Amino acid sequence: MKALIVIDYTVDFVVGKLPCGQPAIEIEQKITELTESFAREGHWVVMAVDLHEENDALHPEHRLFPPHNIRGTEGRNLYGSLQSAYEANRERVYWMDKTRYSAFCGTDLELKLRERGITELHLAGVCTDICVLHTAVDAYNKGFRIIVHQDAVASFNQAGHEWALGHFKNVLGAEII
Ligand code: ZN
Repeated sequence: MKALIVIDYTVDFVVGKLPCGQPAIEIEQKITELTESFAREGHWVVMAVDLHEENDALHPEHRLFPPHNIRGTEGRNLYGSLQSAYEANRERVYWMDKTRYSAFCGTDLELKLRERGITELHLAGVCTDICVLHTAVDAYNKGFRIIVHQDAVASFNQAGHEWALGHFKNVLGAEII
């Protein structure tokens, strides 16, 4: 069984408070298509979405990045056509808040995947070299097979993006399609 994990494809990460910008805008259609096709074929889809509280000085990202994906703000909405694809497929798509880079950290994602007998994870979203990377590392350590859709991941950092794609393939044994 397989699942699609869409990571942090929100307004703030595409064009908002902590934007990847053009490379992220360019993958909108592909991410939406993947979400619709996985849902249509009866596969499970997870929207793994960063969540921060306002002025959370204890959060490690507080010192590293400007405030982003604050609870209750528009910046946490899914970007562009992905929002309507999510709304149209609510019965197949699981919205999962996360508070660290990895979608596995402090969440029930692994339990939900195991319950469904899912062994193969398809990864999409942003940033390739931050949250997608950390999620892929955890998926590797937990023994999941990893597929990265290279035209559905993006970063503000092109060198980091390319490095991460190599790391997925050569170190995590992922298939890059
Ligand atoms: Zn964050």
